[in-house]
Amino acid sequence: MRLSQYFMPILRDDPKEAEIISHRLMLRAGMIRQEAAGSYSWLPMGFRVLKKIEQIVREEQDRAGAIEVLMPTLQSADLWKKSGRYDAYGKEMLRVKDRHDREMLYGPTNEEVITDIFRSGIQSYKDVPRNLYHIQWKFRDEVRPRFGVMRGREFLMKDAYSFDLTAEAGQHSYNKMFVAYLRTFARLGLKAVPMRADTGPIGGDSSHEFLVLAETGESGVFFDKDFHAMDWENFDIDYDDVGAVKNLVAEFTSKYAATDEKHDVVEFDARVAKDKQLSGRGIEVGHIFFFGDTYSKPLGCEVQGPDGKKVTLQSGSYGIGVSRLVGGIIEASHDKGGIIWPEAVAPFKVGLINIKAGDAEADAASDKIYKALQAKGVEVLYDDRAQPGGAKFATMDLIGLPWQVIIGPRGLKDGMAEVKHRKTDARENVALDKVVEKFTA
Ligand code: ATP
Ligand code: MG
Repeated sequence: MRLSQYFMPILRDDPKEAEIISHRLMLRAGMIRQEAAGSYSWLPMGFRVLKKIEQIVREEQDRAGAIEVLMPTLQSADLWKKSGRYDAYGKEMLRVKDRHDREMLYGPTNEEVITDIFRSGIQSYKDVPRNLYHIQWKFRDEVRPRFGVMRGREFLMKDAYSFDLTAEAGQHSYNKMFVAYLRTFARLGLKAVPMRADTGPIGGDSSHEFLVLAETGESGVFFDKDFHAMDWENFDIDYDDVGAVKNLVAEFTSKYAATDEKHDVVEFDARVAKDKQLSGRGIEVGHIFFFGDTYSKPLGCEVQGPDGKKVTLQSGSYGIGVSRLVGGIIEASHDKGGIIWPEAVAPFKVGLINIKAGDAEADAASDKIYKALQAKGVEVLYDDRAQPGGAKFATMDLIGLPWQVIIGPRGLKDGMAEVKHRKTDARENVALDKVVEKFTA
């Protein structure tokens, strides 16, 4: 993409309304625009990142055996009346009426709809286990939408729902999602610590939130320092190996980690040596929850068991805040100059800077590399605008592409381009005809 033909409305100054760094940087880098409180348009740069995160989330759900569907954003109130949540949900639910005066709502979550879909599509115990998910916009009329996409009112969520015959089988479905989350966040370049979460009336150890450690997080967190020493990157696993999946979950839940809501000082002292007790703040990027027949029962989601008797199914739900992750990744990865995208989610891999746009030699060399990178399928954003070099460097640092290729008269004399690694600031002179190789080898 040529920047001269792109749409990336950069802001020079810090927008006043943005309290935290990710919100500031997303606005400054022209990734989003606010349309109403907690509601954003995704501009090209933001949209590319959102789609990349979504795709990684999707691949890891698929790998864990979940099956993708798509449910509407607007739901009928009927099912929510059956589950008893229509009134309980309160003001966070956006309620609307259609032309026939029928009560509808903009879905804040999908337990009711998916349970009804599943109920109507199955007959016997042979139809389970299944896990269905979708990646769809949600609306929650939050009291205080803030921090940009981190606490929006309209936001993109991946939500999966498992259906099993027994609670024991359901535990394996839960564990698979737990591992899928470890894998997903690792691929996003994040360390998201699983923490025990509130289970409400159900109790037990069947709910975890995944939190990215960041000063600007909304939750207080308390955890064992040993978490830092664990391997957060390699999670090769056979999802059908019930024991192996269980062991991995056991390993990542063996150390103390809790959000302020669940924190127990006495237990913390008993399980973690004083010098290993860490506390801080975290951003909730995922939440998994096994709740048994909470929705299956009122909605009649049952099958014929092996002995011919009806069995009410056991379920869990598994959410990931896809749009929140865009902000969360920036909170975890930025510096004074701007965003530093992990390669897996970067809007483009390479930023090509022509320092002297308009100069025949610089244009020719830059165009050639641009075309060659494109031909090899390397995602490249080419700053071909007639702007001073300094401004171009600042813009490229701000938008945070992992690699910069800088072409200017000085290097060209020796047939060289400068390649800069955004994260480490390491710079290297590379012969013009070797630049493409650097990103394809
Ligand atoms: P929170 O405690 O942050 O309000 P929640 O517990 O209400 O979140 P869940 O119902 O567990 O959220 O939703 C699943 C995931 O969706 C969360 O882990 C979070 O990443 C994301 N999410 C929830 N609310 C919002 C929001 N208002 N804006 C952006 N993402 C959100
Ligand atoms: Mg939650």
